[in-house]
Amino acid sequence: MITITDVCKWYGKPEVLKNINVTIERNQTVVICGPSGSGKSTLLRCINGIEKYQKGEIIVNGISLNDPKTDLYKLRRNIGMVFQHFALYPHMTALQNICIAPIKVLNWSKHKAEKEAMVFLEQVGMGSNAQAHPAELSGGQQQRVAIGRALIMKPQIVLFDEPTSALDPEAIKGILDIMISLAKSGMTIVCVTHEMGFAKEVADNIIFIDKGEIIEQGAYEEFFINTKTDRAKDFLKQIL
Ligand code: ADP
Ligand code: MG
Repeated sequence: MITITDVCKWYGKPEVLKNINVTIERNQTVVICGPSGSGKSTLLRCINGIEKYQKGEIIVNGISLNDPKTDLYKLRRNIGMVFQHFALYPHMTALQNICIAPIKVLNWSKHKAEKEAMVFLEQVGMGSNAQAHPAELSGGQQQRVAIGRALIMKPQIVLFDEPTSALDPEAIKGILDIMISLAKSGMTIVCVTHEMGFAKEVADNIIFIDKGEIIEQGAYEEFFINTKTDRAKDFLKQIL
């Protein structure tokens, strides 16, 4: 469902992504890890067409992202995104944050959007906080709202960019539990994270990127137990 072939990207020199090759099947969960500055966020942004790449090809559901005929806005409706710092609108309530995209993009009525939004607020454990503004919510609660905001669009794919890096341990567990249940429900997930418990439980493939290059990828056993490269071994030593 997502095929990335020989993708290269640069802002100047050096390259930020070098010959990236990844295939992500429908219903898979893929974890991307690697040091800061290695290109993880850039790769996610390329997958949903926020960033252009100079070489190679990314195909999502049979549609090429570099094809000028591709309607990126339409494609992006199928791809939810969750960020490290939540990116909620501060002047809107939790409910309004979740309703805004379906109202603006799918032309839903306010009534329909609010009714549906409550379903997703309940799903992420935030049903009783619908009227709270982000500033009144903890980080973990804000991230729950951000996940609800992604889910209401009923995306086939959700991209998570270090969704728990800004959270305390208790909140981390709550968010990971939601992500694990999404993964098990068959959502296609691409997640930048260093939470290896999550990777162990649900990842079909773990990709280790360093300096814009995929150094290793494999399922949990292959990646953790039979790690091949010294760079991946060193990295794992640091994060475990
Ligand atoms: P990661 O998410 O792995 O920490 P990023 O994808 O954010 O890494 O960044 C990869 C590299 O690209 C870094 O060296 C970063 O400085 C650079 N970079 C990211 N965004 C931009 C940009 N908009 N303009 C120039 N350089 C950028
Ligand atoms: Mg990043």
